[in-house]
Amino acid sequence: MDLYEALGVGRDAKPAEIRRAWQRKARALHPALNPGDPVAAQHYREAAEAWEVLSDPKRRAAYDRGEREPAPVAPVPEGGFEGFDFSARVRLEKVSFREIFDASSSPRPRPEAQRGEDLEQATRVSFEESMSGAERRVHLVRHERCPACQGIGDVAYGPVPCPRCAGQGQVRGSRGHMIFARPCSDCEGSGALRHQPCPSCHGEGRTFSSEWLDVRIPPGVGEGSHVRLPGAGNVGRRGGPPGDFVLTVELEPHPVFRREGDDLHCLVPIGMIEAAMGGHVEVTTPDGPVTIEVPAGTQNGQRFRLRKRGVPRLGVDERGDLWVEVQIVIPAVTGDRARQLLRELAGEIPPSGQGEDKSEPEASSRS
Ligand SMILES: [Zn+2]
Ligand SMILES: [Zn+2]
Repeated sequence: MDLYEALGVGRDAKPAEIRRAWQRKARALHPALNPGDPVAAQHYREAAEAWEVLSDPKRRAAYDRGEREPAPVAPVPEGGFEGFDFSARVRLEKVSFREIFDASSSPRPRPEAQRGEDLEQATRVSFEESMSGAERRVHLVRHERCPACQGIGDVAYGPVPCPRCAGQGQVRGSRGHMIFARPCSDCEGSGALRHQPCPSCHGEGRTFSSEWLDVRIPPGVGEGSHVRLPGAGNVGRRGGPPGDFVLTVELEPHPVFRREGDDLHCLVPIGMIEAAMGGHVEVTTPDGPVTIEVPAGTQNGQRFRLRKRGVPRLGVDERGDLWVEVQIVIPAVTGDRARQLLRELAGEIPPSGQGEDKSEPEASSRS
């Protein structure tokens, strides 16, 4: 009989794989579930024998070297749940009743399993990169699954009686007035411990690794934005799920544009004459210069909105707006002719851009 074939696994199967294969076989072939079926009984016996040898690293290694042990006499429990006796032979205690019949117990996370920590780094992003997106290559030192124990944190060793239940496989519990026995959680009801903390990782199930990670920063990120890579953080303890990698954005300020959410704000200087008469003004936008038309009588501080010239909205195909605030530049008028013209002009126009309002005509003609 080939022990690997008996469990239906390859010769390079990992311990966890062998354990799962045995649990599968045991659930399917156990005599309690196949009363009076000699073929199932025979297969169960073979699978149990294979599990016994292959679950023990020393015996497995010996088997792989071709050393054969004398055939053990593995008893097969008789059918029926009443006669279900795991204590008859140590070899049959390797998998507890609960492990065989409770499908949810295989493979289930260990009680000590913990989610891995998130790993965080920060990166500076220029204004242009925040508009177009960017790439960063970051160096990570992270916890990786321990290769020695496949992240389980335990390695198999010879069975010793479970100290918690004194080898009984059961502990007493109470709920209200009821006292009942429940399977011992330390040994999962088997009464024996067959694992010890992995010496490579001291039972943590993880070791350090150093690696480079390429992170794509999407368009539209702002100061404090988090770019999250799920699962790229530390691997969990003892088989727990991994944490995330989080890259925090530090946005470099821009000399022209001020950002507010997805909108941008900027100042545009315009001449006194253009403001008074209206005209075309060139405005810098993230997409290059754009000419806008300002109406006659444009006031200092007046704002114009350029739709969809702002920052891309994260994750959607939209953009915020660009708000252009007019800053009227008043020149110092010193030349005689220019002063004369302005005096004449002052006589022509109302004092405060009130159109045809003639209520205070004298105010504008004073010189
Ligand atoms: Zn380990
Ligand atoms: Zn126990």
